[in-house]
Amino acid sequence: MADRQRPSTDPGDSGIEVTPPKTWAAGVPGVAVALQHALREMGPRRSLKTLSAMNQKDGFDCMSCAWPDPPHRKVAEFCENGAKAVSWEADPLLVPAEFWAEHPVDDLAGRSEYWLGQQGRLTQPVYKSADSDHYTPIGWDAAFEIIADELNGLDSPDQATFYTSGRASNEAAYAYQLFVRAFGTNNLPDCSNMCHESTGVAMADSIGVGKSTVSYNDFALADLIIIMGQNPGTNHPRMLTTLEEAKREGASIVAVNPLPEAGLLRFKNPQRPSGVVGRGTQLADQFLQIRLGGDLALMQALCKRVLEAEDAYGNALDHEFLAEHCTGFTEFADHIRNLDDEQVLIATGLRPAEIDELADRYLKARRVIVTWAMGLTQHRKAVDTIREILNLLLLRGNIGKPGAGASPIRGHSNVQGDRTMGIWEQMPDSFLDALQTEFGFEPPRKHGFDVVESIRRMRDGEVKVLFALGGNLVSAVSDTTVAEAAIRRTKLSVQVSTKLNRSHGVVGERAIILPTLGRTEMDLQASGPQFVTVEDSVCAVHASHGAVPPVADGLLSEVAIVSRLAAATLGDRVDVDWAGFERDYDSIREHISRTVPGCDGYNEKVRWEGGFVLPHPPRDERRFPTVNGSARLTVNQLEPIVVPPGRLLLQTVRSHDQFNTTIYGLNDRYRGIHRGRRVVFVNPDDLAELGFADGEAVDLHGEWTDGVDRVVRDFRVVAFPTARGCAAAYFPEANGLVPLDSVAERSNTPTSKAIILRLERATTPRV
Ligand code: SF4
Repeated sequence: MADRQRPSTDPGDSGIEVTPPKTWAAGVPGVAVALQHALREMGPRRSLKTLSAMNQKDGFDCMSCAWPDPPHRKVAEFCENGAKAVSWEADPLLVPAEFWAEHPVDDLAGRSEYWLGQQGRLTQPVYKSADSDHYTPIGWDAAFEIIADELNGLDSPDQATFYTSGRASNEAAYAYQLFVRAFGTNNLPDCSNMCHESTGVAMADSIGVGKSTVSYNDFALADLIIIMGQNPGTNHPRMLTTLEEAKREGASIVAVNPLPEAGLLRFKNPQRPSGVVGRGTQLADQFLQIRLGGDLALMQALCKRVLEAEDAYGNALDHEFLAEHCTGFTEFADHIRNLDDEQVLIATGLRPAEIDELADRYLKARRVIVTWAMGLTQHRKAVDTIREILNLLLLRGNIGKPGAGASPIRGHSNVQGDRTMGIWEQMPDSFLDALQTEFGFEPPRKHGFDVVESIRRMRDGEVKVLFALGGNLVSAVSDTTVAEAAIRRTKLSVQVSTKLNRSHGVVGERAIILPTLGRTEMDLQASGPQFVTVEDSVCAVHASHGAVPPVADGLLSEVAIVSRLAAATLGDRVDVDWAGFERDYDSIREHISRTVPGCDGYNEKVRWEGGFVLPHPPRDERRFPTVNGSARLTVNQLEPIVVPPGRLLLQTVRSHDQFNTTIYGLNDRYRGIHRGRRVVFVNPDDLAELGFADGEAVDLHGEWTDGVDRVVRDFRVVAFPTARGCAAAYFPEANGLVPLDSVAERSNTPTSKAIILRLERATTPRV
């Protein structure tokens, strides 16, 4: 049993230490840090039980990122950050009953995410009444009754919004969307609204499916892998193993990023001698230190060079593929041929020779994969940027063939599965029709509110109930001050969670916390032990079986919570056997197999060893379910971001001790940050130009067209080799600088990667 003590004081940021950034990832230190977290949080026996079952075919799926599992699992099939995630969730330390009397809600709101997460696992439902500032324990049934009464007391179902974090299993997500639609609304915002929504919109436009077009094995078949706006070393660490294997098969890798992330440069695989005693494997053969928001221009410049090569040699384009499968080439080519090269250089911050080299690599490669993450999706022009990636790939037929394709890498373990199960505020009529046929009720047809719209409606008093299935909305969303006021304006906020976070401190007039089982824990229901299912970034669906007993008795699974709430709220309004859902998850999977596209035979297929892969027409048969039934080359307008003099362009990033808003520790060992988080990374030449010094205390001011001076205070300047003019700081600390209404065109995703930043000397320096 771990003997970890609950920290009484919030460590804060005093005593930040800064060391030179690393140029390689993982290695023996990665193993050491992983074991350190596991032994400190779980102790030796629970560590062995959990880590040995993690990502194994009969084990549980890591609840962190959505990197796919290899067909052949290794004994240790996890990374450092996966081990941190399991240690954090399977933590046997419990939040004691007296905690709630000691810590009023306002106190929780003032605490750091790190301190809150270190308080232990939640084990009993608690309730904060309107006339109290404290939570007090409450029974499950009483909790469901309060929520049901509040929901049924609303003038319209659209006065409630139902948020989902990407940790929810497919079974919980399916039951949840069914409950919410039976209740009468499509207000189903999810974390995807804040991350890959831009990907979904762009890929649906270009090829008809908003998911990765590659399978796991394609990486080893690629000639060239281009990694854009992604930091795999921290956010998808097992991807480094796959990249190493691809390099061994002869692939070359190009990394495009404003930050020289260690995990893009070199990988010391601790499961190989070269990674333990040697120099490991160099990953990027070319590193392009692009300016924030410059990726659209780079893709257009590459497309132009491909067209120029075609003009010169007549063999650069895949004519057969373009003729048979694509439309829009002429308009696209006209637009690209007239691209302003000067604008491209301004937008990218790159030299022509760097772009030429990448173009040369692209033209020499027969099979090319492009991967990306938030560095592309959280910009105003994100949708156009991703459409341009598809344009580039379509020109040479790099879709729907082995070793080639477009591969957005999802940040949350089941965010893609949740969307497949219906967690989206704008599901197509075909899905709603299937629900109507299956369950005999008329689902709402009007599109619901996504995350940003839900915050707006709470702010404006239109949404009165916030229900969150996991997650930490107040810290994840942009414009923290606005989001806090909006949530506090609700009549009731409910949070389903395993551990504390700031969303338990920033609450409505009344609030309820419902503790739930973790993915590591055995889920015993009336019909016996249950498993759940998840979908990874490459559309592979597989089972996840808990490996250790629940940390406490009386915890309910997500499925049980949703089913009991649905029964309490809806009564017999719809003909759904909610109790049956809880009793046996097979009953949910049977419904899934009849209503979710591509999931026929779901309940059988998830029992296949390793699960199954969902159909994907562009990947499987070069069939493109777009508006015109073809792959579409699109025209996208280049609008470089204009940064006023004396300002920088800021992006928010994760540290290496972080997963979304969950803070495992206060170090970011790859970037050389120790014991603190309130830092801002700035290029030394920019510091000299702006008159600031490394180590100085500053306030960060975010500027936008609404003229509001958004400020987050007291950050330590860290001189860091960022792209010129570009800076970086961690979220959620810097989310307050991102205006709520500053969103990507068409996808409504917050623009967390392009904030106009003004540095000012700190008014109340502490760091
Ligand atoms: S790569 Fe992602 S899914 Fe795999 S163990 Fe690491 S954090 Fe978990």
